[in-house]
Amino acid sequence: LKGDDEHMNQTDKEFEKALRPLSFDDFTGQQKIVDNIKIFVLAAKKRGESLDHVLLHGPPGLGKTTLSHIIANELESSLKITSGPVLDKPSDLAGLLTNLEEGDVLFIDEIHRLNAVVEEYLYSAMEDFRIDIMLDSGPNARSVQISLNPFTLIGATTRSGLLTSPLRARFGINARLEYYDAKLLTTIVTRSANILGAPMDEVAAYEIARRSRGTPRIANTLLRRTRDFADIKGNGTINLEIAKFALDALDVDENGLDEMDNRILTTIIEKFKGGPVGISTIATACGEEGETIEEVYEPFLIQEGYLKRTSRGRIATELAYKHLNIRPHFGGNS
Ligand code: ATP
Repeated sequence: LKGDDEHMNQTDKEFEKALRPLSFDDFTGQQKIVDNIKIFVLAAKKRGESLDHVLLHGPPGLGKTTLSHIIANELESSLKITSGPVLDKPSDLAGLLTNLEEGDVLFIDEIHRLNAVVEEYLYSAMEDFRIDIMLDSGPNARSVQISLNPFTLIGATTRSGLLTSPLRARFGINARLEYYDAKLLTTIVTRSANILGAPMDEVAAYEIARRSRGTPRIANTLLRRTRDFADIKGNGTINLEIAKFALDALDVDENGLDEMDNRILTTIIEKFKGGPVGISTIATACGEEGETIEEVYEPFLIQEGYLKRTSRGRIATELAYKHLNIRPHFGGNS
């Protein structure tokens, strides 16, 4: 349901591509970030320079990749996409960098997962548009300097805290994407339904939007699944009744928490007396990776007030007890 690449089939991937906004005007929300980046793009174009390097951070599915496509489009340059874990050796990076044309945009997803050696090569590439490559080893070892065309690096990360400070310092533009409110997501879902040619009532759009964990990718995934229910169980129109039926069937609860969100809260409350409990203990008990809990689930649960982060671990709040209809233990854990 998270709608990430692993769980998507081919049709879903095609839809995701079709639904991706291509210009700043199509991109809903993140207003302050978009307004600023628009200015920086215009200024870079006016001066005939490459745009300063951009770091985009925030939970998955909020539009980091989409924004990067838009930035490249607006710069009228091309976008090359790679990711931290794929760049295994300096030569992988060198190959990519030397193929960039002037003003191109290189997008590195999960930039916090770059290995240390590759990361060091990136420093001079970002700062001076050059790389020093070691040829041979032992007595024949020598270093050659290769100059690169000026380019823009866009780094995306779900964990900006894991970035080293030298890398972070090399980004001139730093933007944190926030969760979207239900109103913005209603606009996004409505736009997507139009592109898909799926008739939808306004109240149904709002229902899907408010139960999408503040995330456009989830909103689009829920829309596609709801449309399946409308086609098979209804008359093709997504109305409130169909939307509610579909969301319940997909285990998205009234407040938009999904099965894993609820499992995390239930585990903390029932197995660990409401906390505090460490993330790795929660992860083991829930059968999910600690990293995924930290990157995907926890930020939303904290923002919505179900979970608190303390120095001793995570604590379920009073709201979590209320949500799950469990009475707090003696002494409370709010
Ligand atoms: P990840 O880090 O998991 O790759 P991401 O932050 O890069 O996630 P995107 O792939 O850019 O997220 O966005 C996911 C989908 O959500 C896109 O297909 C796009 O259609 C939609 N989307 C994201 N942001 C917006 C937006 N502001 N307006 C409309 N649609 C959006």
